[in-house]
Amino acid sequence: MAKRVLVSGGAGYIGSHVSVELIEAGYDVVVADNLSNCDMTCFEGVKKITGREDIPFIKMDFCDIKAVENLFDEFKIDAVIHFAAFKAVGESVAEPIMYYKNNLESFMNLIQVAHGHGGCNVLFSSSATVYGEPDELPVTEKSPRQSATSPYGNTKQICEDILRDSVNAYVTGDSTVHIGSDRPGPIKGIALRYFNPIGAHPSALIGELPRGVPNNLVPFITQTAIGKRDCLNIFGNDYPTPDGTCQRDYIDVVDLAKAHVHAVRRMLEGKMENDYEVFNVGTGKPLSVLELVKAFEKVNGLSLNYKFAPRRPGDVVAIWADPTLANEKLGWKAERTTEQTLASAWAWEKHLADK
Ligand code: UDP
Repeated sequence: MAKRVLVSGGAGYIGSHVSVELIEAGYDVVVADNLSNCDMTCFEGVKKITGREDIPFIKMDFCDIKAVENLFDEFKIDAVIHFAAFKAVGESVAEPIMYYKNNLESFMNLIQVAHGHGGCNVLFSSSATVYGEPDELPVTEKSPRQSATSPYGNTKQICEDILRDSVNAYVTGDSTVHIGSDRPGPIKGIALRYFNPIGAHPSALIGELPRGVPNNLVPFITQTAIGKRDCLNIFGNDYPTPDGTCQRDYIDVVDLAKAHVHAVRRMLEGKMENDYEVFNVGTGKPLSVLELVKAFEKVNGLSLNYKFAPRRPGDVVAIWADPTLANEKLGWKAERTTEQTLASAWAWEKHLADK
Protein backbone atom coordinates (compact mmCIF):
# COMPACT_ATOMS: atom_id res chain seq x y z
CA MET A 1 0.00 0.00 0.00
CA ALA A 2 1.21 3.49 -0.80
CA LYS A 3 2.52 5.51 2.14
CA ARG A 4 0.40 8.51 3.02
CA VAL A 5 1.81 12.01 3.40
CA LEU A 6 -0.14 14.82 5.05
CA VAL A 7 0.62 18.20 3.51
CA SER A 8 -0.44 20.98 5.87
CA GLY A 9 -0.86 24.22 3.96
CA GLY A 10 -0.99 22.08 0.86
CA ALA A 11 -3.18 24.47 -1.12
CA GLY A 12 -0.49 27.15 -1.12
CA TYR A 13 2.37 27.92 -3.45
CA ILE A 14 5.02 25.45 -2.32
CA GLY A 15 2.58 22.95 -0.81
CA SER A 16 0.76 22.49 -4.11
CA HIS A 17 3.99 21.83 -6.01
CA VAL A 18 5.08 19.36 -3.33
CA SER A 19 1.71 17.57 -3.52
CA VAL A 20 2.18 17.07 -7.27
CA GLU A 21 5.68 15.65 -6.89
CA LEU A 22 4.63 13.34 -4.05
CA ILE A 23 1.73 11.95 -6.06
CA GLU A 24 3.91 11.50 -9.13
CA ALA A 25 6.41 9.62 -6.95
CA GLY A 26 3.66 7.21 -5.89
CA TYR A 27 2.64 8.56 -2.49
CA ASP A 28 -0.91 9.13 -1.31
CA VAL A 29 -1.46 12.70 -0.24
CA VAL A 30 -3.90 14.35 2.15
CA VAL A 31 -4.07 18.11 1.79
CA ALA A 32 -5.14 20.22 4.77
CA ASP A 33 -5.40 23.98 4.59
CA ASN A 34 -7.47 26.75 6.19
CA LEU A 35 -7.33 28.79 2.96
CA SER A 36 -6.39 31.88 4.96
CA ASN A 37 -3.86 32.98 2.37
CA CYS A 38 -4.97 31.17 -0.79
CA ASP A 39 -8.03 29.84 -2.57
CA MET A 40 -8.67 26.49 -4.24
CA THR A 41 -6.97 27.46 -7.53
CA CYS A 42 -3.75 25.57 -6.84
CA PHE A 43 -5.47 22.56 -5.31
CA GLU A 44 -7.64 22.30 -8.44
CA GLY A 45 -4.43 22.58 -10.46
CA VAL A 46 -2.86 19.72 -8.52
CA LYS A 47 -5.84 17.50 -9.36
CA LYS A 48 -5.61 18.44 -13.04
CA ILE A 49 -1.86 17.87 -13.32
CA THR A 50 -1.95 14.52 -11.57
CA GLY A 51 -5.29 13.38 -13.01
CA ARG A 52 -6.35 12.53 -9.47
CA GLU A 53 -9.79 13.75 -8.57
CA ASP A 54 -9.79 11.80 -5.31
CA ILE A 55 -7.12 13.67 -3.32
CA PRO A 56 -8.62 14.27 0.13
CA PHE A 57 -8.87 17.97 1.04
CA ILE A 58 -9.61 18.96 4.62
CA LYS A 59 -10.38 22.61 5.33
CA MET A 60 -9.00 23.08 8.82
CA ASP A 61 -6.81 25.21 11.03
CA PHE A 62 -3.87 23.54 12.76
CA CYS A 63 -4.33 25.91 15.71
CA ASP A 64 -7.51 23.93 16.42
CA ILE A 65 -6.09 20.90 18.19
CA LYS A 66 -9.38 19.00 18.05
CA ALA A 67 -9.35 19.32 14.26
CA VAL A 68 -5.79 18.00 14.17
CA GLU A 69 -6.83 15.08 16.34
CA ASN A 70 -9.78 14.31 14.08
CA LEU A 71 -7.47 14.34 11.08
CA PHE A 72 -5.09 11.83 12.63
CA ASP A 73 -8.03 9.69 13.79
CA GLU A 74 -9.40 9.61 10.24
CA PHE A 75 -6.18 8.97 8.31
CA LYS A 76 -3.16 6.85 9.02
CA ILE A 77 -0.36 9.32 8.34
CA ASP A 78 3.16 8.08 7.60
CA ALA A 79 4.77 11.50 7.19
CA VAL A 80 3.76 15.13 7.53
CA ILE A 81 5.10 18.09 5.63
CA HIS A 82 4.25 21.27 7.47
CA PHE A 83 3.72 24.43 5.44
CA ALA A 84 0.71 25.90 7.25
CA ALA A 85 2.08 29.23 8.46
CA PHE A 86 1.97 32.97 7.91
CA LYS A 87 4.91 34.14 5.83
CA ALA A 88 4.98 37.90 5.32
CA VAL A 89 8.00 39.47 7.02
CA GLY A 90 6.59 43.02 7.22
CA GLU A 91 3.23 41.87 8.53
CA SER A 92 4.98 39.83 11.21
CA VAL A 93 6.74 42.97 12.45
CA ALA A 94 3.38 44.75 12.66
CA GLU A 95 1.50 41.78 14.14
CA PRO A 96 3.98 39.72 16.18
CA ILE A 97 1.45 38.02 18.42
CA MET A 98 -0.60 36.89 15.44
CA TYR A 99 2.55 35.33 13.96
CA TYR A 100 3.79 33.67 17.13
CA LYS A 101 0.34 32.32 17.95
CA ASN A 102 -0.36 30.96 14.51
CA ASN A 103 3.02 29.63 13.47
CA LEU A 104 4.04 28.12 16.81
CA GLU A 105 0.72 26.80 18.05
CA SER A 106 -0.12 25.06 14.81
CA PHE A 107 3.24 23.29 14.73
CA MET A 108 3.11 22.27 18.40
CA ASN A 109 -0.40 20.91 17.94
CA LEU A 110 0.76 18.90 14.98
CA ILE A 111 3.69 17.35 16.83
CA GLN A 112 1.71 16.67 19.97
CA VAL A 113 -1.05 14.88 18.09
CA ALA A 114 1.33 13.05 15.73
CA HIS A 115 3.30 11.85 18.75
CA GLY A 116 0.10 10.54 20.30
CA HIS A 117 -0.89 8.63 17.20
CA GLY A 118 1.99 6.20 17.09
CA GLY A 119 4.64 8.78 16.18
CA CYS A 120 5.39 10.30 12.82
CA ASN A 121 8.00 11.60 10.42
CA VAL A 122 7.81 15.38 10.35
CA LEU A 123 9.30 17.57 7.67
CA PHE A 124 9.40 21.25 8.54
CA SER A 125 9.62 24.00 5.93
CA SER A 126 12.34 26.23 7.29
CA SER A 127 14.17 29.06 5.63
CA ALA A 128 17.58 30.49 4.88
CA THR A 129 16.37 33.44 6.92
CA VAL A 130 17.70 31.57 9.97
CA TYR A 131 21.26 32.42 8.82
CA GLY A 132 20.62 36.19 8.89
CA GLU A 133 23.50 38.12 7.31
CA PRO A 134 26.13 35.37 7.09
CA ASP A 135 29.81 35.96 7.89
CA GLU A 136 30.91 33.45 5.26
CA LEU A 137 29.45 32.41 1.93
CA PRO A 138 28.14 30.02 0.85
CA VAL A 139 26.34 28.95 4.01
CA THR A 140 26.45 25.34 5.12
CA GLU A 141 24.13 23.74 7.64
CA LYS A 142 26.90 24.30 10.19
CA SER A 143 26.93 28.06 9.62
CA PRO A 144 25.62 29.73 12.76
CA ARG A 145 22.04 30.84 12.98
CA GLN A 146 21.80 34.57 13.69
CA SER A 147 19.23 36.37 15.80
CA ALA A 148 16.14 36.75 13.71
CA THR A 149 15.33 40.21 12.41
CA SER A 150 11.57 39.63 12.31
CA PRO A 151 8.96 37.64 14.24
CA TYR A 152 8.43 35.59 11.06
CA GLY A 153 12.12 34.63 10.98
CA ASN A 154 12.02 33.94 14.68
CA THR A 155 9.11 31.51 14.25
CA LYS A 156 11.22 29.56 11.74
CA GLN A 157 14.05 29.27 14.26
CA ILE A 158 11.73 28.37 17.13
CA CYS A 159 9.92 25.74 15.05
CA GLU A 160 13.26 24.16 14.15
CA ASP A 161 14.01 24.02 17.88
CA ILE A 162 10.58 22.63 18.72
CA LEU A 163 11.12 19.85 16.21
CA ARG A 164 14.67 19.08 17.39
CA ASP A 165 13.64 19.03 21.05
CA SER A 166 10.59 16.88 20.36
CA VAL A 167 12.67 14.39 18.40
CA ASN A 168 15.14 14.17 21.29
CA ALA A 169 12.48 13.95 24.00
CA TYR A 170 10.15 11.47 22.36
CA VAL A 171 12.79 9.18 20.95
CA THR A 172 11.56 6.29 23.07
CA GLY A 173 8.02 7.02 21.99
CA ASP A 174 6.87 7.64 25.52
CA SER A 175 5.83 10.83 27.28
CA THR A 176 3.01 12.36 29.25
CA VAL A 177 2.09 15.10 26.79
CA HIS A 178 0.79 13.14 23.84
CA ILE A 179 -2.74 13.63 22.66
CA GLY A 180 -4.87 11.02 21.04
CA SER A 181 -4.14 7.40 21.73
CA ASP A 182 -2.69 4.91 24.09
CA ARG A 183 0.25 4.28 21.78
CA PRO A 184 2.46 7.36 21.66
CA GLY A 185 5.37 7.00 19.30
CA PRO A 186 8.63 8.69 18.34
CA ILE A 187 8.97 11.78 16.19
CA LYS A 188 11.64 11.96 13.53
CA GLY A 189 12.32 15.26 11.87
CA ILE A 190 13.90 16.98 8.93
CA ALA A 191 14.08 20.74 8.50
CA LEU A 192 14.62 21.94 4.96
CA ARG A 193 16.04 25.45 4.77
CA TYR A 194 14.77 26.98 1.55
CA PHE A 195 16.63 29.73 -0.19
CA ASN A 196 14.48 31.83 -2.58
CA PRO A 197 11.77 29.69 -4.21
CA ILE A 198 10.58 31.08 -7.56
CA GLY A 199 8.87 29.93 -10.73
CA ALA A 200 5.88 27.73 -11.38
CA HIS A 201 4.97 24.26 -12.59
CA PRO A 202 5.73 23.77 -16.32
CA SER A 203 2.01 23.13 -16.92
CA ALA A 204 1.28 26.71 -15.75
CA LEU A 205 -1.62 25.25 -13.76
CA ILE A 206 -0.14 26.06 -10.35
CA GLY A 207 2.09 28.88 -9.16
CA GLU A 208 2.43 31.72 -6.71
CA LEU A 209 -0.74 33.73 -6.01
CA PRO A 210 0.23 36.71 -3.88
CA ARG A 211 -2.59 38.63 -2.23
CA GLY A 212 -2.30 42.37 -2.80
CA VAL A 213 1.01 43.95 -3.70
CA PRO A 214 3.69 41.26 -3.87
CA ASN A 215 6.61 41.54 -1.45
CA ASN A 216 8.78 39.08 -3.34
CA LEU A 217 10.84 39.92 -6.35
CA VAL A 218 9.62 37.52 -9.03
CA PRO A 219 5.86 38.03 -8.58
CA PHE A 220 6.55 41.76 -8.66
CA ILE A 221 8.49 41.34 -11.90
CA THR A 222 5.80 39.27 -13.61
CA GLN A 223 3.03 41.62 -12.45
CA THR A 224 5.01 44.57 -13.82
CA ALA A 225 5.56 42.77 -17.11
CA ILE A 226 1.85 42.04 -17.48
CA GLY A 227 0.91 45.63 -16.64
CA LYS A 228 -0.59 45.19 -13.16
CA ARG A 229 2.25 47.29 -11.67
CA ASP A 230 3.85 50.32 -13.25
CA CYS A 231 7.44 49.82 -12.34
CA LEU A 232 9.69 47.46 -10.42
CA ASN A 233 11.72 49.14 -7.70
CA ILE A 234 15.11 47.52 -7.32
CA PHE A 235 15.87 48.05 -3.66
CA GLY A 236 19.44 49.32 -3.47
CA ASN A 237 22.23 49.45 -6.05
CA ASP A 238 25.02 50.47 -3.71
CA TYR A 239 25.56 47.17 -1.93
CA PRO A 240 29.07 45.68 -1.74
CA THR A 241 28.29 43.15 -4.50
CA PRO A 242 29.61 42.93 -8.09
CA ASP A 243 26.79 45.07 -9.57
CA GLY A 244 25.63 46.78 -6.38
CA THR A 245 22.35 44.85 -6.05
CA CYS A 246 21.64 42.09 -3.51
CA GLN A 247 22.53 38.49 -4.26
CA ARG A 248 20.29 35.49 -3.55
CA ASP A 249 20.07 31.80 -4.36
CA TYR A 250 16.89 31.45 -6.44
CA ILE A 251 15.61 27.88 -6.39
CA ASP A 252 13.03 26.61 -8.84
CA VAL A 253 9.86 25.61 -7.00
CA VAL A 254 9.64 22.24 -8.81
CA ASP A 255 13.24 21.46 -7.88
CA LEU A 256 12.43 22.51 -4.34
CA ALA A 257 9.34 20.28 -4.33
CA LYS A 258 11.45 17.32 -5.46
CA ALA A 259 13.79 17.86 -2.50
CA HIS A 260 10.78 17.15 -0.26
CA VAL A 261 10.13 13.85 -1.99
CA HIS A 262 13.76 12.85 -1.43
CA ALA A 263 13.54 13.87 2.22
CA VAL A 264 10.28 11.98 2.77
CA ARG A 265 11.77 8.91 1.16
CA ARG A 266 14.82 9.16 3.39
CA MET A 267 12.57 9.21 6.46
CA LEU A 268 10.19 6.48 5.34
CA GLU A 269 12.93 4.14 4.18
CA GLY A 270 14.80 4.47 7.48
CA LYS A 271 17.84 6.08 5.89
CA MET A 272 18.24 8.96 8.33
CA GLU A 273 21.64 9.13 10.02
CA ASN A 274 20.21 11.21 12.86
CA ASP A 275 16.64 11.44 14.06
CA TYR A 276 16.74 15.18 13.41
CA GLU A 277 18.45 16.45 10.28
CA VAL A 278 18.77 19.79 8.54
CA PHE A 279 19.42 20.43 4.85
CA ASN A 280 19.94 23.54 2.77
CA VAL A 281 17.83 23.55 -0.38
CA GLY A 282 19.39 25.87 -2.91
CA THR A 283 21.30 25.86 -6.17
CA GLY A 284 24.61 27.01 -4.74
CA LYS A 285 24.74 29.79 -7.33
CA PRO A 286 24.23 33.45 -6.44
CA LEU A 287 22.28 35.75 -8.73
CA SER A 288 21.91 39.49 -8.25
CA VAL A 289 18.58 41.30 -8.55
CA LEU A 290 19.82 42.96 -11.71
CA GLU A 291 21.04 39.68 -13.21
CA LEU A 292 17.68 38.13 -12.51
CA VAL A 293 15.81 41.03 -14.11
CA LYS A 294 18.03 40.86 -17.22
CA ALA A 295 17.61 37.07 -17.46
CA PHE A 296 13.83 37.50 -17.21
CA GLU A 297 13.83 40.08 -20.00
CA LYS A 298 16.03 37.97 -22.24
CA VAL A 299 14.31 34.62 -21.92
CA ASN A 300 10.84 36.10 -22.30
CA GLY A 301 11.80 38.59 -25.00
CA LEU A 302 10.46 41.68 -23.27
CA SER A 303 11.66 44.82 -21.62
CA LEU A 304 10.79 45.50 -18.01
CA ASN A 305 10.12 48.91 -16.55
CA TYR A 306 12.38 49.17 -13.51
CA LYS A 307 14.24 51.78 -11.52
CA PHE A 308 16.67 51.84 -8.66
CA ALA A 309 15.18 52.72 -5.30
CA PRO A 310 16.52 53.01 -1.75
CA ARG A 311 17.52 49.90 0.12
CA ARG A 312 14.68 47.95 1.75
CA PRO A 313 15.11 47.80 5.55
CA GLY A 314 16.01 44.34 6.81
CA ASP A 315 17.42 42.97 3.54
CA VAL A 316 20.63 40.96 3.83
CA VAL A 317 23.32 41.87 1.30
CA ALA A 318 24.04 38.42 -0.04
CA ILE A 319 23.24 34.83 0.76
CA TRP A 320 23.53 31.58 -1.11
CA ALA A 321 23.65 27.93 -0.18
CA ASP A 322 26.23 25.26 -0.09
CA PRO A 323 23.85 22.44 -1.10
CA THR A 324 26.47 19.66 -0.84
CA LEU A 325 24.79 17.93 2.08
CA ALA A 326 21.45 17.69 0.28
CA ASN A 327 23.21 16.60 -2.91
CA GLU A 328 25.03 13.80 -1.11
CA LYS A 329 22.61 12.66 1.58
CA LEU A 330 19.26 13.28 -0.11
CA GLY A 331 20.53 12.41 -3.59
CA TRP A 332 18.89 15.63 -4.76
CA LYS A 333 20.20 18.41 -6.93
CA ALA A 334 18.64 21.51 -8.47
CA GLU A 335 18.19 20.79 -12.17
CA ARG A 336 16.14 23.49 -13.82
CA THR A 337 17.96 26.44 -15.34
CA THR A 338 17.23 30.02 -14.37
CA GLU A 339 15.86 30.51 -17.89
CA GLN A 340 13.40 27.63 -17.55
CA THR A 341 12.31 28.91 -14.16
CA LEU A 342 11.79 32.50 -15.29
CA ALA A 343 9.91 31.33 -18.38
CA SER A 344 7.63 29.27 -16.14
CA ALA A 345 6.98 32.28 -13.86
CA TRP A 346 5.96 34.33 -16.90
CA ALA A 347 3.78 31.52 -18.33
CA TRP A 348 1.95 31.34 -14.98
CA GLU A 349 1.33 35.11 -14.89
CA LYS A 350 -0.06 34.93 -18.43
CA HIS A 351 -2.22 31.97 -17.48
CA LEU A 352 -3.69 34.04 -14.62
CA ALA A 353 -4.34 36.94 -16.97
CA ASP A 354 -6.19 34.64 -19.41
CA LYS A 355 -8.51 33.31 -16.72
N1 UDP B 1 13.55 43.08 -4.31
C1 UDP B 1 13.52 44.23 -5.10
N2 UDP B 1 12.30 44.73 -5.44
C2 UDP B 1 11.12 44.15 -5.07
C3 UDP B 1 11.17 42.98 -4.28
C4 UDP B 1 12.40 42.47 -3.92
O1 UDP B 1 14.55 44.78 -5.45
O2 UDP B 1 10.05 44.68 -5.40
C5 UDP B 1 14.86 42.49 -3.95
C6 UDP B 1 15.08 42.44 -2.44
O3 UDP B 1 15.62 43.66 -1.99
C7 UDP B 1 16.05 41.28 -2.33
C8 UDP B 1 15.66 40.35 -3.48
O4 UDP B 1 14.90 41.17 -4.37
O5 UDP B 1 17.36 41.73 -2.54
C9 UDP B 1 14.82 39.17 -3.07
O6 UDP B 1 13.75 39.65 -2.29
P1 UDP B 1 12.52 38.73 -1.91
O7 UDP B 1 11.55 39.57 -1.11
O8 UDP B 1 11.97 38.05 -3.12
O9 UDP B 1 13.15 37.58 -0.99
P2 UDP B 1 14.03 37.68 0.35
O10 UDP B 1 15.42 37.34 -0.04
O11 UDP B 1 13.87 39.03 0.92
O12 UDP B 1 13.42 36.61 1.21
